[in-house]
Amino acid sequence: MSRIVVLGGGESGVGAAVLAKVKGFDVFLSDNGTIADHFVDDLRKWDIPFEQGGHTEGLILSADEVVKSPGIPSTVPMVRKLEAQGTPILSEIEFAGRYDSAKKICITGSNGKTTTTSLIYYLLKNAGLNVGLGGNIGKSYAFQVATEHYDYYVLEISSFQLDNCYEFHPDIAIITNISPDHLDRYDYQLENYVKSKFRITQNLNPEDCFIFDSDDSITIDHLNKIIISAKKLPFTQKETDLKQGAFIKDDKIVVRVDDEECDVYLKELALGGKHNIYNSMAAALAAKASGIDNQVIRESLATFQPIEHRLEPVLSIKDVLYINDSKATNVDAAWYALECQTRPVVWIVGGKDKGNDYEVLKPLVKDKVRAIVCLGVDNTKIREAFEDIVGKENFVETRSAEDAVTESSKFAQSGDVVLLSPCCASFDLFHNMEERGEKFKEAVRRL
Ligand code: ADP
Repeated sequence: MSRIVVLGGGESGVGAAVLAKVKGFDVFLSDNGTIADHFVDDLRKWDIPFEQGGHTEGLILSADEVVKSPGIPSTVPMVRKLEAQGTPILSEIEFAGRYDSAKKICITGSNGKTTTTSLIYYLLKNAGLNVGLGGNIGKSYAFQVATEHYDYYVLEISSFQLDNCYEFHPDIAIITNISPDHLDRYDYQLENYVKSKFRITQNLNPEDCFIFDSDDSITIDHLNKIIISAKKLPFTQKETDLKQGAFIKDDKIVVRVDDEECDVYLKELALGGKHNIYNSMAAALAAKASGIDNQVIRESLATFQPIEHRLEPVLSIKDVLYINDSKATNVDAAWYALECQTRPVVWIVGGKDKGNDYEVLKPLVKDKVRAIVCLGVDNTKIREAFEDIVGKENFVETRSAEDAVTESSKFAQSGDVVLLSPCCASFDLFHNMEERGEKFKEAVRRL
């Protein structure tokens, strides 16, 4: 019996282990840290042997194949050893893809993955298709392949998962956009990160579709260097006329795939902001390429509800609207969040800096931001970039969501927006971006 070892005992790893078990492998799961109680329960329930708090070399190096969870960098010693002895290392997506014949719509990119993935899932569901949602969202893809049956999957796939994909074959691949992010995992080389994203296209054939942002220079520069045989469906916010793809015409989005065309009024889109026009275009293209009715596309794009922590309106208090955009963990995401504000902004920003360059935000801050409330341990770079723009008296530092909200409420005037769009990861003060968003919302509700 072939032996599969899974490294990492989170959603992805436990899902992969369950699938390996169901498929009759000799499975072992190893996690260097602590496995959450509910995952321990799952492993026991499925009768899967595991260890936590360290790796036992002998039990791991005997694997025929290893499924590595996306959170584990390829530089850790155990992974290096496996590579040195030639053991194949797969991602959970690669492993699960072997056992799944459903049509797969796969989404990667620097920003907009979750929104676009959720929109496409909503569209396909509204069209009455038997569809699963997975990847970085909700239940892992592998667990669903082990326990469910779907005709379609909509999968959000991070670059870390793509790094160990080889044969995985999407029917429709989407790159929402590419901007510098996670460069610490890519030797600080943008090119490596871009190549990782483009792995989503590596097995596309002429019957498949590739959907991408043609306004994004990083995507286009790379696309010009490679050959992709799939049908190319670009989306752009330029007023133009594409034979295939999505573009703006007057006050509408026009979506064209083969001989079919669908148009949607911009004012009817449920999600606000320039970035969500891109996300809506990508989703509409995927839906059109899947043969979905124009009426369903229009209605779905008009009724989709904002997702938690993504420009999520929380409460309006004394005519000040509080918005939770905790998921904006890089400069590009915060740029779009500021760009779409039409009211003066009190901006809550900060956290764990990922090598940010704040230059591109300066004009927006000059135009729109009344005051800055830092929410982070080290705010030096933010201070250097913006204190002079908003003025010393309009710049404060805080270290809790509670204080950040209280300080913001002092700056905010009737008609303003208080926007948590932190531009940074959350790990200096919070467990994750969800906790940061929750704490922000709780503090707002207590005002
Ligand atoms: P991801 O899953 O890629 O992190 P999300 O859909 O969760 O993306 O959105 C994360 C943040 O990125 C949002 O809070 C929003 O501010 C911003 N964002 C969403 N879509 C886009 C886009 N197409 N381009 C740039 N920024 C975006």
